[in-house]
Amino acid sequence: MNLILLGPPGAGKGTQAKRLQDRFGIVQISTGDMLRAEVAAGSEVGLQAKAVMESGALVSDDILIRMLGNRIARPDCARGFILDGFPRTVPQATALDRLLTERGTKLDAVIELVVDAPVLVERIAGRFTCAQCGAGYHDAFRRPAVEGVCDKCGGREFVRRADDSRETVQARLDAYQRQTAPILPFYAAKGLLHRVDGMAEIDAVTAEILALLARLPAATAA
Ligand code: ADP
Ligand code: AMP
Repeated sequence: MNLILLGPPGAGKGTQAKRLQDRFGIVQISTGDMLRAEVAAGSEVGLQAKAVMESGALVSDDILIRMLGNRIARPDCARGFILDGFPRTVPQATALDRLLTERGTKLDAVIELVVDAPVLVERIAGRFTCAQCGAGYHDAFRRPAVEGVCDKCGGREFVRRADDSRETVQARLDAYQRQTAPILPFYAAKGLLHRVDGMAEIDAVTAEILALLARLPAATAA
C-alpha cells in the first residue's frame, strides 16, 4: 500500500505516519527527516539545503525528486510506503507519478489532514522529539508518560527543530499555501484525495484514517 499524508507543517503527518508504519509494516518516508540527516552529515545536499530550511522555504525540486527516487528504489519500500512531506509542489507530484509508473506501482490514497492555522502554530512551537528514536511529543498535547523519559525507547535526551521557531513558522505556512496546496486538486481529480479532520485528538485521527483505508478496494490494501 502506497500512501501520501498531506497537510501543512504541524498537521500531524509524522505522528500519524509512524502509527501507520507500525500498523501496516510499510515504511514512513519523511523528506524533512532525510534532509535533516544530510545537514547533520554535512553532505553536499545538506550544505545546499541548510539555509533554505532555516528560512522556512522549500528546497529545490531537483534535489527532492532525486532523493525520493533513490529512496523508493530501496528494498524496504517493496511492500509500500507512507510519504510524509513529499510531494510539496506540482512538479514533485507529477515526478512522483512518473517514478511510480516506472516501478509498476501506484498510489492507493492521498490523505489530507485539515487543521486551522492558529492550532498549527501552537503545535509547531510545542513540538519536541526523542533524540534517540525520533518519537514525537508536544509540551501541551502529548507529554511522555514519565517526565523526561521517552515512552518508546527510554531515551532521556530530547531535541527541538531549528525551524520550529515562531518566526519561521509563518514562512512555512505561507510556502504550504502557495506551493503545496495547489497539488490538492491534482489528486482530487484522480479520485485519490481523502480529507480527515486533523483537529481531533491523535487517537481519533488515527481511527478515521484506518476507517478510510478499510474502505479502499481490498486488492490494494496491505
Ligand atoms: P507534521 O509532521 O505534520 O509537521 P507532527 O506530527 O510533527 O506534524 O505534529 C506536530 C506536533 O503536534 C507534535 O508535537 C505532535 O505531538 C502534535 N500533534 C500531532 N497531532 C496532534 C493532534 N491530533 N492533536 C494534538 N497534537 C497533535
Ligand atoms: P518537514 O520536516 O516536512 O516540516 O520539512 C522541513 C523542511 O525541509 C521544509 O520546510 C523544507 O525546507 C524542506 N523540505 C522537506 N520536504 C521537502 C520537499 N518535498 N520539497 C521541498 N522542501 C522540502
